[in-house]
Amino acid sequence: MILLDGKRLAGILSDEMARQVAQLRQSTGQVPGLGILRVGDDPAGAVYVENKIKQAKRIGLNVFSRALPDNDEQALVRAIESFNRHPDIHGFIVQLPLPAGWNTNGLLEKIDPSKDADGFHPLNLGRLLADDFDLMPATPAGIVELLRYYDIPVAGKHVVIAGRSRIVGRPLAAVLAGRHPLGNATVTLLHSRTENPGQYIREADIFVSAVGIPHRWKAGMFKSGAVAVDVGINALPGGKLAGDIDPQGLEKMLSAYTPVPGGVGPMTVAMLLRNTLRLFERKMKGKI
Ligand code: NAD
Repeated sequence: MILLDGKRLAGILSDEMARQVAQLRQSTGQVPGLGILRVGDDPAGAVYVENKIKQAKRIGLNVFSRALPDNDEQALVRAIESFNRHPDIHGFIVQLPLPAGWNTNGLLEKIDPSKDADGFHPLNLGRLLADDFDLMPATPAGIVELLRYYDIPVAGKHVVIAGRSRIVGRPLAAVLAGRHPLGNATVTLLHSRTENPGQYIREADIFVSAVGIPHRWKAGMFKSGAVAVDVGINALPGGKLAGDIDPQGLEKMLSAYTPVPGGVGPMTVAMLLRNTLRLFERKMKGKI
């Protein structure tokens, strides 16, 4: 079984992006800027945001980060509007999840689609359905890059995705089933209302899980030689992280697997940076 080493690939891509940022700096006289808006003081959210800031600075981006209170939705609206106008911010994100009861859809729609570094605005999500894959949400983009780097064929294969979130499952289904050079798969999308998910998983050539339940899927559920991509990041009591897939016994069943941590997570951050560079370049070319 091959370990799909997202940490290593993210490092390689970040080194390339650092060179690209230096070139862009020379050719345009400007530095691409990433904005990050975070609401509340959830410690897990803080760790994710700190890591994004660290990686963005490592490749030479300017970073504009703002923390907002979790009892004032309008403060977030104002911050989004100010980042939309900010001339040195080329792409920005609102770190999810937002507090329960907040209008996440409505808030994400307030982001200027030409600065939508996460690709979660409905316009950018809709573009995926029109086979425009220039700005993919970061986690689906990271999965596609990992499969590409390790030469894992996707076209014509049966990909089973568990989880239908707007940030992972559904956009990934659109990319892998779409007319993307790394798409053209036959995709089955499982969710919490799927009856007997095991019947689909044992048919999968490639299985992707983003359900957020530690060790929900076991080695014996897979077809021999399948590839498994584990998006889940679940904190166990004591603070250790676990994926959605139980690693025990995978070695004998799978041909390739993404570890948690060190698989999809670092790729997601690298793809957020790539999206920011793309938005910067689009702005320089006057494209929307
Ligand atoms: P979510 O938490 O919004 O929703 C979970 C999804 O799983 C839902 O669509 C639900 O229908 C589905 N589901 C629940 N139980 C299921 C079951 N038994 N069978 C099939 N589907 C089931 O999803 P999310 O925001 O995509 O997060 C999922 C996991 O991925 C979490 O652990 C999260 O931390 C992690 N995550 C990791 C990254 C990364 O970069 N590695 C990025 C985003 C999310």
